[in-house]
Amino acid sequence: MLPLSQFSKKELEPIRMIVFDVDGVLVPRGTKIKQVGNTTTLETKVIHEKQIEQIKKIYEAGFLINISSGRGLYMLQEMFRGILPFVSLTYENGSATWYKGKIYQHVNSFEYLKDVFPKLKKVLENNKNVKGFEPKEFIITIHCAEQIKEIEEIVAKEKGLTTIWNGEAYDVQIKGDQTKAVGLRHVMEIFKLKKDNVMAIGDNYNDAELLAESGMPISADKNRVSGKFYVPLEGEFLPADKLMQKILELSPG
Ligand SMILES: [Mg+2]
Repeated sequence: MLPLSQFSKKELEPIRMIVFDVDGVLVPRGTKIKQVGNTTTLETKVIHEKQIEQIKKIYEAGFLINISSGRGLYMLQEMFRGILPFVSLTYENGSATWYKGKIYQHVNSFEYLKDVFPKLKKVLENNKNVKGFEPKEFIITIHCAEQIKEIEEIVAKEKGLTTIWNGEAYDVQIKGDQTKAVGLRHVMEIFKLKKDNVMAIGDNYNDAELLAESGMPISADKNRVSGKFYVPLEGEFLPADKLMQKILELSPG
């Protein structure tokens, strides 16, 4: 892996689309969630005006922009409200993509998840380490203060399912067929792009397949995912900020 400072104009040449992970890349890591009885409180993180302006400029420089997140559509729409005409939103770890008001569903997880959901609810009911179930349509996301072995054990017994722990929550989803990479493959079809035309930046374990699926993977945390280039996670600027600065610096016009 090379530092982003060594990324050159030649490597930018074939890139037509840039795929951004959200948490840890466009906004700092961490989701605040609280669940008391039937009331779930979820903090919406705001994309800084500077990043919104950068994304606009990247779009004006001729790049397509895809946001790929484990978050739900409602939240991504809220976060990217100001630039919705310029971006496509791939949500819940590649399950579906929103583009200009149209929804492309990539995965149908209903049969896989319908039985495990009540089991998880029941077992976790009185677990103090559970902060809450994040509202999702195609995956199950459980925020926890720390890793909970019971979740892993319940899911391990279910055929075809897997859990991903990202340091603050578990995503429960279909093994192999419900990943950000699957989402990206569909997005590439929608926009008629090849692997070489895609740059992707992500910081966490659920980004590994996404990054591997792009021709130009950029790691925003080299301890968790690998890429051709890396951006430091800590520092004055967010990883996406640094990457966009670099792209704009190398773009003609
Ligand atoms: Mg992330």
